[in-house]
Amino acid sequence: MKLNITLFGALPFRRVSKTAKRQRRTHLKKTAPTTTTCSNCGAVVAPHRACTKCGYYKGKETLKVNKEETK
Ligand SMILES: [Zn+2]
Repeated sequence: MKLNITLFGALPFRRVSKTAKRQRRTHLKKTAPTTTTCSNCGAVVAPHRACTKCGYYKGKETLKVNKEETK
């Protein structure tokens, strides 16, 4: 019986060993998101975004934050 090779399509030449796979993935890791502190209230905020706690950005109030809702 002769196998029809064209049925399988493109396949890797050889299996990647556990060690090779793990060594390749040593550079793949999660990083913590970058954060800054609000200059007005000191809360931890995402950089280049208005503060979600007080609504300040670059020393000005840019958002109307409902303070009763956050309590
Ligand atoms: Zn703030």
